[in-house]
Amino acid sequence: MISTVICGLNEATRTDSAVRVPAPFRVGSTMSITTDIRTKRLNQSPMNQIPMYPFRFEPIYQYRIWGGRRLSNFLSAPLPGDGPIGEAWVLSDRDDFPSVVADGPLKGSTIEQLNQASPEQLMGRFAGRFNRFPLLMKFLDARDVLSVQVHPSDQQTDYLPKGEQGKTEAWLVLEAGSESRIYAGLKPGVTPADFRQRIDDGSVADALASFTPSTGDGILLKAGTVHTMGGLVVFEVQQNSDVTFRLYDWGHVDAKTGQPRPLHIDQGMACIDFTRGPVGPVAPIVEAETPVLREKLFLSDYFVTWRLTGDSPVIVGEDETPRVLVCLDGEAQLEHEGVNYPMRKGDVLLLPAVVGSCFCQPIGKVCFLEIAIPDPN
Ligand SMILES: [Zn+2]
Repeated sequence: MISTVICGLNEATRTDSAVRVPAPFRVGSTMSITTDIRTKRLNQSPMNQIPMYPFRFEPIYQYRIWGGRRLSNFLSAPLPGDGPIGEAWVLSDRDDFPSVVADGPLKGSTIEQLNQASPEQLMGRFAGRFNRFPLLMKFLDARDVLSVQVHPSDQQTDYLPKGEQGKTEAWLVLEAGSESRIYAGLKPGVTPADFRQRIDDGSVADALASFTPSTGDGILLKAGTVHTMGGLVVFEVQQNSDVTFRLYDWGHVDAKTGQPRPLHIDQGMACIDFTRGPVGPVAPIVEAETPVLREKLFLSDYFVTWRLTGDSPVIVGEDETPRVLVCLDGEAQLEHEGVNYPMRKGDVLLLPAVVGSCFCQPIGKVCFLEIAIPDPN
């Protein structure tokens, strides 16, 4: 089935000489404008007078004790420093780590500023429904195993800080080997008392269902599912939430502090759905084989994710609603209003609602995700 090729394209197929910034954007570039001046300029000249276009964002890198250096294989820019990078946040409307537009007339604007300036342009029929862009997207390099963790649901408000939402998340495996492992859900019959006992005696892993993932596997982790993973690189799409309850940390010590990381056992125990048995890889649904292979990977209340693979031109996006494209391998050009927007491996492009559907022209074989916000039921 999907197995191998998440992408299988040779690095040599990339056109490194491709011009990243479309020519029109070099006129009147904002590159030299300082943050202060930019803020003033935006206030004086409302952003809603500047038409939105497909936005590419700069990755935001995060140190993690379990991280590595493999994200350099999946992103177009080199990794900073030489320490363990666990996460690259590629689309984030968080106050602490806001995504910033990388190119074009709105270069330097945060996604929050765009949403405040013109929610209709950005969010279309979802304008006013969310106070922040509702999805957070990351590349993760779990060289070592993550903590055993759980996230609350939207309904578990006692465990959500004000303004936060629950966290349903999904992973697409980009690199896996024989040492890779995904733990998701509980083995049948595990009770709260059993689980608590295993936290104390260090045998939690024995209570978790697990499997050895393959490159190209997708897994959907609804809020309340106990999970962890290690020895792999994944792309993650999730609700825009940063609430994680760490139940067990394998005896890890954070090299930065010399201390174990804090656990949140009581909160985590309260948020675990003990009816959630083993969770395995999703079965992709083939929706089309032409002009490119289009597979639906994830369907949840919070996001829908398709994987598109092929070398033929294809229409992406949808009118009046935002969509996000994540290029996993290869290269393509997106055409909007006569301007070509390059999309290369590791690039994440947000198509604002006002952009709607547009034409995607692969340059050779390309593999990318298209992610949508579903309409409420
Ligand atoms: Zn998680």
